[in-house]
Amino acid sequence: MQFKDLEFWFIVGSQFLYGEETLRHVEEDAKIMVEEMNKSGNLPLPVRYKTTVKTCEDASDIIAQANYDKACAGIIVFCHTFSPSKMWINGLVALQKPYLHFHSQFLSTIPNEEINMDYMNLHQSAHGDREHAFMGARLDLKRKIVVGYWKDKDVQEKIGKWMRASAGVAFSKQLKLVRFGDNMREVGVTEGDKVEAQIKFGWQVNTWPVGDLVQKIQYVTQEEVDKQVEEYEKHYVYQIEDKEAVRYQALVELGMKKMLEEQGAHGFTNTFENLYGMEQLPGLATQDLMRQGYGFGAEGDWKVSAMTAIIKFMSEGLTGGNSFIEDYTYDFEAGLALGAHMLEVCPTIATDKALIEVHPLGIGGKKDPARLVFEGKEGPACLASLVQMGNRFRLLVHEIDCVKPHKDMPNLPTARVMWEAKPNLADGAKAWMLAGGAHHSTLTYDLDFEVLQDFCRIMDIECVHINADTDPDKLEEELFLKDIAWKLK
Ligand code: MN
Repeated sequence: MQFKDLEFWFIVGSQFLYGEETLRHVEEDAKIMVEEMNKSGNLPLPVRYKTTVKTCEDASDIIAQANYDKACAGIIVFCHTFSPSKMWINGLVALQKPYLHFHSQFLSTIPNEEINMDYMNLHQSAHGDREHAFMGARLDLKRKIVVGYWKDKDVQEKIGKWMRASAGVAFSKQLKLVRFGDNMREVGVTEGDKVEAQIKFGWQVNTWPVGDLVQKIQYVTQEEVDKQVEEYEKHYVYQIEDKEAVRYQALVELGMKKMLEEQGAHGFTNTFENLYGMEQLPGLATQDLMRQGYGFGAEGDWKVSAMTAIIKFMSEGLTGGNSFIEDYTYDFEAGLALGAHMLEVCPTIATDKALIEVHPLGIGGKKDPARLVFEGKEGPACLASLVQMGNRFRLLVHEIDCVKPHKDMPNLPTARVMWEAKPNLADGAKAWMLAGGAHHSTLTYDLDFEVLQDFCRIMDIECVHINADTDPDKLEEELFLKDIAWKLK
């Protein structure tokens, strides 16, 4: 699935009451809105005007078409006249695509001098949209409501964020993951119910023995490895003369990529506890695959791998970067956290070109792996962590500010990024731990809370937001009440 192949359908709600002339206006106005919004540059994907719904059959037909159309990633509905919405029930109960209720109006102001009943009848969004919103509430429809003038940038950007979330949902529904081996022994948060994940998110998570990869890399040719080693030079800077360790990473990357392509998979996991027959733990290999958009989770963590793949897909065209990351160590005095992993951080978040280095690895009992070493970018970002709470999934979204490390760390042989957590280190970490967030997460500079919240709403999963306003005591209370509510659902 390609991001650029997706689109959104713009459907207008109306009725026959005001006559053909009004309906002609409704359609003309809607087409102007769609055309100008597409030209604004604020929407990552196109909107297409599809139809004006006037009957129950109209609504059911267009929603049935949307459900079956692979390119249609979601529906935007706008009620331009007074549009009765009981006629939408049969369509909406069958709806399988993300839904945005756009509460706008063709003109931004009330033309006081000229206003008459014809104008009123055409511009009854405040009327028809409330009727439509009642139906959304009555049906418990998982919809985003965007309110505001359709030409305003901030309004268009809200739609744009929902488009990214909806594209992520479309991608998620067909996502396949390859797990090389199982989870790291005895780790809890990386476990989960793969059947429930497929029911909820569509993910096909399956395991292959690492021996299959060892076999696969035997068929990679020296010429392919030569090309891959050269390819690395386009993106990274060699800090070493002897490229033997890099050649092995190239071999592993090519082998993994062949297996992923054969399976049509966009994410993978591995674990240092299961490297039988391999010379090094994949480091550079994994990092370079993440750069290309593949999701990754270490220690068998398939949930973070899937979320990283989805977040990368949702971020199409943005340049901030996204990576698998792990909370490692704190500076309590400076109020900073240092995120890293033993090898596998994605170079899309690097400040400068990443360096290729070779160092020993304390665990795994293998040869010294080649890896990319770099510092992460400065700037606002989010950490996203999906955990399974028995009967349900919960996505934690933690707002952070990434900062330049205040001192050099010349002896740290891994990529790293330092951040100030919101509201502060202690309360942020406490909130995260109260909500059961994992040590692994996806670090995204491209997506903010709103996109991830939209994703959770469409997927009907719990979302926990940790930001500048978070009070751990209030969050504890909120989690307690939400837990009861989710268990009753
Ligand atoms: Mn880890």
